Amino acid sequence: MSRDPRYDILFEPVRIGPVTARNRFYQVPHCNGLARLHPQAAAGMRRVKAAGGWAVINTEEVELHHSSDVSPYIEGRLWDDRDIPTFQASVDAIHAEGALAGIELAHNGFHAPNRYSREVPLAPSHMMVGALDPVQARAMDKQDIANLRRWHRDAALRAKRAGFDIIYCYAGHDLTLPMHFISRRYNHRSDEYGGSLENRVRLYREIIEDTKEAVGDRCAVAVRFAVDEVMGEEGLCSETEGREVVEMLAELPDLWDVNVSDWSNDSVTARFGEEGGQEQYVVFVKSLTSKPVVGVGRFTSPDAMVSQIKRGILDLIGAARPSIADPFLPKKIEEGRIEDIRECIGCNICVSGDMIIAPIRCTQNPTKGEEWRKGWHPEEIATAKSPEAQVLVVGAGPAGLECALSAARRGYSVALAEAGQALGGIAARMARLPGLASYDRVRGYREGQLRRMANAEIYLDSPLSAEEVLDFGARFVAVATGARWRLDGVGREHALPLAFLERAELLSPDAFLDGTVEAERVQGRKLVIYDDDHYLLGGVIAEALAGMGADVTLVTPAADVSAWTHNTLEQGRIQTRLLELGVTIRPHRTLAGAGNGVLTLACVYTDKTEEIPCDVLVPVTARLPEEALFQALKAREDDWADAGIAQVSLIGDALAPATVAHAVYSGHRLARELEEEIDLDVVPFRRELPGIAGG
Ligand code: ADP
Ligand code: SF4
Repeated sequence: MSRDPRYDILFEPVRIGPVTARNRFYQVPHCNGLARLHPQAAAGMRRVKAAGGWAVINTEEVELHHSSDVSPYIEGRLWDDRDIPTFQASVDAIHAEGALAGIELAHNGFHAPNRYSREVPLAPSHMMVGALDPVQARAMDKQDIANLRRWHRDAALRAKRAGFDIIYCYAGHDLTLPMHFISRRYNHRSDEYGGSLENRVRLYREIIEDTKEAVGDRCAVAVRFAVDEVMGEEGLCSETEGREVVEMLAELPDLWDVNVSDWSNDSVTARFGEEGGQEQYVVFVKSLTSKPVVGVGRFTSPDAMVSQIKRGILDLIGAARPSIADPFLPKKIEEGRIEDIRECIGCNICVSGDMIIAPIRCTQNPTKGEEWRKGWHPEEIATAKSPEAQVLVVGAGPAGLECALSAARRGYSVALAEAGQALGGIAARMARLPGLASYDRVRGYREGQLRRMANAEIYLDSPLSAEEVLDFGARFVAVATGARWRLDGVGREHALPLAFLERAELLSPDAFLDGTVEAERVQGRKLVIYDDDHYLLGGVIAEALAGMGADVTLVTPAADVSAWTHNTLEQGRIQTRLLELGVTIRPHRTLAGAGNGVLTLACVYTDKTEEIPCDVLVPVTARLPEEALFQALKAREDDWADAGIAQVSLIGDALAPATVAHAVYSGHRLARELEEEIDLDVVPFRRELPGIAGG
């Protein structure tokens, strides 16, 4: 297939100071939980992206000095020359695939509590640190400012020596020191670095000038600047000071990488923001500078990308998440394979890796983070040892679909049997709930691919029994039958079933996922959600119920609604939305009794009880795997050989309920491991062990 000429413009080279990007696909800096602790894994991830056609591959933020120590978060580190080798593998991998390597030098100012280095944090003014540590940052004096400029310059020189082509001066989120100086909120100084905007911008200007002078002969100097903080006049605003900063520095850098702050606005989830949602903020930038401009917007549609270029909004299409979900996005557009694009669903599970201090993972791309340690490639998979063998996958949720697709790619003859009328399982069911439509992309991508494969058959309306599986006689059977929500209260807080729930009118989360809750059942009635799951579902059911006209209360043992979504940067928006919809929130409460239209709650600290009215209770607690089919097959293990079955495996939620990302990973893993010898005593991936030399 060849490229659609409409997309030619995306493949034009772009000059960035002394270097040239081979096309307009630009992977902006993004956290990945690999960096300084797993440099080979980071290089593996970057090699794949460079091979996938991105013209520029940037690092995560890189601590430029030991006074900017964000431990335990796993970012890059370039404190002195000894850190240079941690970037070597990445730079070499990026260059080997013909892309430019960029590095985002960062000083996190009062957002760096310096837990490891124990240095005193730095800020424009005396300031409490951004984390909840009982520590304050010290207002920088002139010597501190001179030191900071030298540290930035030294780090830039080190980055140049490491072989980077693009070196950032970073003020892209309110987490960075230059931004703290620019901000009226944080800069209370009265010297030439405070007061007027020109004074507040002075440090950033000096850093950019220093960097250009130090490395500008060979390296492009990029700025990442948040033109708007999405908090009105309290913060930077693209109509006033955000715009003026760009005006002041317009021609100074070689590239403008513009975005909005804070990170939750920049990486807004699909539930709260559309593709291209930053355009309204960054639209003015190109009119003020002749330098190339890059911006992000979870772009996955080539038409949207072309439109950004043609309408003069951006010169380069920036992407973090779309490059994570599909490292081969540029190549697929180039080769006219638009239907093969694995579109990001905007769930921010990738962000959660950074937040929980673990290597990056992705809902759509199960190979993400596994490129080096498991040797997984997003587009390549080993040919089956026995391609004549048949694989039967039972259940077409995320696990079953991914397993079927990856097994088919290996060359097996695949049959996918689904009990229901539609594919997609939990992902398609979640897509019914408010704001979660993009989850259906998990199904859409896989179904689209499978339907084009000659060696894969899909059977809908096919609830299989053990007998039928035995009759089918596939050599490999994957049971991906999912899970159902419990109704007995068992979860994190209540380890044993709550007998009193038998007296309550209950509605299962499954009914919401199935779309079978009728408005008459809930309208005008008092619905209580008990959320002991803490991820998306409790909050989103509350939102759905409020939309159906119920009087909704959300009870949770946690302090916050959907508490785990702090890790996906959504918690604030979820809680705000529920409050605005009139949902009553009862944190720090567990269940203590039910019946006669009343629910008894207990305080998690004091056990003190109280009663609230409740017509219907929705317990969002633990799930139980649907493993009846698997157990029935296990019970007939003696018949397997006669039926031609060599292996029956349990995957996804049927193995252990978790996120959609876990289910996709589980299905992918089984497909990769078919016919492999698995030794449970051996760690199944390569590791980067800490050096013990020291110094
Ligand atoms: P996962 O997240 O692990 O992929 P899901 O709950 O999304 O699990 O999907 C499980 C799918 O399996 C559902 O679509 C369900 O209809 C299907 N299923 C369950 N039992 C059977 C069965 N015996 N035969 C075929 N399909 C089944
Ligand atoms: Fe997109 Fe979700 Fe993958 Fe992140 S984890 S890249 S948001 S699909």
